[in-house]
Amino acid sequence: MKRTALLLFLTIILGSSCSDSKSNNNREYHLEAIYGNHTANDPLPNEALTFEVNLDMVNATLEQEIKLREAIEIIKTVIATESFRNKILKYKYNDEETFVGNRGFTNAQIYQIVLNGAEALSPERNNQMDAEIEFYHADTNVVGYTFRNSRRIWINTKFFDSYTPAGVAGNLFHEWVHKLGFEHEVSWSLDRDSSVPYALGFIMREVGKEFLK
Ligand SMILES: [Zn+2]
Repeated sequence: MKRTALLLFLTIILGSSCSDSKSNNNREYHLEAIYGNHTANDPLPNEALTFEVNLDMVNATLEQEIKLREAIEIIKTVIATESFRNKILKYKYNDEETFVGNRGFTNAQIYQIVLNGAEALSPERNNQMDAEIEFYHADTNVVGYTFRNSRRIWINTKFFDSYTPAGVAGNLFHEWVHKLGFEHEVSWSLDRDSSVPYALGFIMREVGKEFLK
């Protein structure tokens, strides 16, 4: 009985220290992002050329794995282009260079946050996209989803199976941007298309199309 009470207490302590460290991370995160002082005329930063993608596949068939690997190559290739950087830096919403739901970050800072690869769950700046992929099938209009408190991205094979690798890359990137802490409204609107996850997913898909064989 005593032990149960103690365990419960520990959980509460851990729980509260967890949210403390979260806000500290956000502060550091903000400071780091401020250094993202990129302009479209600079040479590409080294982190754009060294960006890695590490996806653990939970239940992929061989065919799905092949398409995912193509999508991974597209993501790495696209991030190493000036086109991807400049589309983010010059992204406009309502005639202003900004994204919807930018959490106070400029376009240049959002670009740096992508290069940092510091997911909310593993906030180390490892210059890498980290996630787990799980496939499911549902006859809905949901292409994929994720939770900020999970490493996993769930992908609906109803869409995945017919998507091009560039389409898959765009979808994966959208879901991963959620893991960096950016959100969007649930129901569709023009504004939502300019949210960080949607806009970056669209840019990934658009630039990625150039790299299809
Ligand atoms: Zn989303």
